[in-house]
Order: sequence, then C-alpha cells, then structure tokens
Amino acid sequence: MFETQSIPRKPTSGRPSTADQPSTPAASADPLGEVAGLDEEQLLSVIVDCERQVAALQARQVAAMTALADARAGTLLEGFAADEVALALTISPNAARQRVADAQTLARRLPDTLSALAGGALDYYRARCIVEAVTGLDDDVAAAVQARVLPGAAERTATQLRAALRRAVLTTDPAGAEERHARVAAERRVDFHPDADGMAYLGVAAPADDTLAVYTAIDGLARAARRAPGETRTLPQLRADTLADIARDILAAGGWRGLALPRQRHRAHLQVTVGADTLLGVSDEPGWLAGYGPISAPMARRIAADATWQRILTDPVTGSLLDYGTASHDPGAVVEGHVLTRDQTCVNPVCATPAASCDLDHTIPYPAGPTAAGNLAPLCRHTHRAKQAGFRLAQPEPGVFRWTTPTGRTYTRRPPALAPPRPDHRYRARSPDADQIGARGWRVTRAKGGSTHIADANG
Ligand SMILES: [Zn+2]
Repeated sequence: MFETQSIPRKPTSGRPSTADQPSTPAASADPLGEVAGLDEEQLLSVIVDCERQVAALQARQVAAMTALADARAGTLLEGFAADEVALALTISPNAARQRVADAQTLARRLPDTLSALAGGALDYYRARCIVEAVTGLDDDVAAAVQARVLPGAAERTATQLRAALRRAVLTTDPAGAEERHARVAAERRVDFHPDADGMAYLGVAAPADDTLAVYTAIDGLARAARRAPGETRTLPQLRADTLADIARDILAAGGWRGLALPRQRHRAHLQVTVGADTLLGVSDEPGWLAGYGPISAPMARRIAADATWQRILTDPVTGSLLDYGTASHDPGAVVEGHVLTRDQTCVNPVCATPAASCDLDHTIPYPAGPTAAGNLAPLCRHTHRAKQAGFRLAQPEPGVFRWTTPTGRTYTRRPPALAPPRPDHRYRARSPDADQIGARGWRVTRAKGGSTHIADANG
C-alpha cells in the first residue's frame, strides 16, 4: 500500500533510496548457530541477559522519544512528534501517540521506574503496568504509588503487579475512584473487528447500564420475533439479525431522530468491490468489502445485488477500477466519491481513518490548486493539522502522495488496491449465476483491451 523512504545522512550509497531504512541493530546473521553447543545453564543465562539488554534498550528509546517531543515543545510542531515516530516505525498514529505518552510519563513522573528499566531490573511490560496505573493520578499520588510497588515489582508477574498497583492506588488515593470511573467512561466507544470466514465482531465499551440497555432491547425483540409462526432461527441468530435490521432501517431512512446521514458519504461505508467476471458468475475470485477485506465470491455477488450497497466493478485482470456505480450527477459529489473510493483511508501512510470520516483537503490550496481528483485527498483532522503545522504533502500524480516530515524524511503513499490484481487469471466454465445476472437486466460489454464492463438496467 505504501513504501517508505528515508533521506540518508550521507548520500554515498548507489542503492535506491527505498532501501535506506533508518538504522537497524546489527542483528546476527545466524542466531541459531550462535547458541548451538551451549548447555542448558548457559542457554538460561543468555535468555536472562537478553531480557536485561532489551529493557535497557527500551529505556534508551524512551529517552529518545521524550527528547524528540521536548525538541518540538513550544513550536508549531508541538504535539506532532508521535507522527514522525509512527511513520519511522510503520506503526499506527494511535500506537505511536501511546508510546510517546508512555515515554513522557516514565521520564517525567516515574523516574525511578525508568532507572529500573535502564538497569535491566524491570522489563518494559511491567514498567507499562505502572504507567497505566498512574494515568490520571496527580504527580504526588503517582510518586507514592511508585514508591509502594517498585521495590517488589521485579519479583511479581504482571498479573500480581497489577493487583498490587490497584491496592496501592486505592490506599494512596481512596477518594479518586469516582473520578477514575469518569475517566474510563469518557473513553466509551464502539469498535469494529474483522474476523475470518466473512464474519466480524462489533465491540461496545460503555458504562454497564447503557450496555445492558442495548442488550435488553435486542434480546426482547429477538424473543418476540421467535414467536412468529415458521420462525426457525435460534435466539442468538435472531439477536444478531435484529441489531443488523435496526441499522439497515436507519440507512434506508437516510437518518434517525432528525439526524441525517452524511449525504454522498454514507454509502462509502457500504462498498463492495467485485471482479466483473465474478459478478457474471464465470469466476469465483474473491470480492472485497470496504472496511473488512476479502470475502467469498458468492457473498460478493449477493451483496452486489443488494441496493443498500454500492457496487464497484474491477477489471478481472488488473484489479483496477472499471465502474464506480453512482446515481449522482452532481460533479462535486462524483469527484468526492471518486477520491474517497480511490484512497479508502486518510492518506497518511500509517493512518487507517476511513476516508468517509476525513476532511477532503486540497493538496495545493484552492484557488492555486483546482478542485479535481488530482489535487484532493482525504485527511483526518489530526493529519490535516500536521500538514498545517509543517508536514509537507505533494501529489505528483493523482492518488500518489509524497510526504516530507519536519525532519526531512520522505514517505510515499500509493492508492490501495481495491481488489488484488490476478496475473494468473483464467476464465472458468460459465456458472448458473450468469443467467440469473442476465435476467436482472445487467448489460455486459467488452472493451478493446479485453476488459469487461457490466452495467445494471439504470446505467
Ligand atoms: Zn490520518
């Protein structure tokens, strides 16, 4: 989806710059050979020694992250150090923000824990347990908690350490429990987790009474539905179907309780990409569900026939966009739809914010740059602010984004494949589905290059 490049300090290498990754530790070429011949006691010593060295290296990384953040303090770039770390380590912006914040907590509020890490007496995982436990506590309370648990921390497993930390927090700050609940409640959310076999999980983290209200309502409707004559679905199946039906009704109505769904955008969440040949039924290559990933050919065909979903057809050979099915004739909406479909997410190479939740940013500000696909990109709020603060963005060709960070490193983001290209593509015997598709009134045309175009009765 993207490649990273760093600018070498000394441009002496003749290799392409993509190979000039930031310095990696000089790893042994033959780690198995190095420990061959050691007896069991020696092996155990190596294991313990490595753990100490890893802890010491992580303390060094903590110090470097804190220093990088400090170097930016008081400038326009304050608050964006983690974005550099995210790009350099190819981790998500959220993960990088967490690691930089943890580093700052260790350096500023838990100096004794950081010393224990640097000396190899405590590993990073246990140091993080302490960081988590003192999040949201006042500095003096945090220091008191650290003083209580640190002396025995190395002799405790992470589970034992967490229990000791909970006790220490309650002992040191008994009045803070209500405040801590308020802090956790502020992080209530709904998460979507893709799973195998065309399934996905929806996770709700919310105060217990709200979560119970959701479950009670769905359970009640499912029990009522089960009394219908001829209903064969189980109660768990009915609960899942009821929740999906409620969401579909809201999508069909275009909103809920006076709140309108974002007009051109709500469908960007509901896109299925399917090869023209798969749709015809002459191939069983997988389809692609936006926000989920690959799905089986029968599932792709079923979803493509559902009017709730936007169907994106791809050329069976190249995987590139054949038809962006839109009913809109508003040029603004068509350009916007094209850009959201092309880029899928925020164009920060390590950001996964869905394009539909992003701002559409002019790469070169309007009116110097046009409102056209080659000058537009979805940027999440945070990345948008990073660009304004000094992360430079260019779009050398439509959909290709070149970032230059404040330290001068460059990263290129290319459009994600809507469907994987299939160089070894073979047409298969025509399946019965092909006739069904013909019966629905979809037209099939074949272009000069051998690509296939399918249109439904409307367009
Ligand atoms: Zn972003």
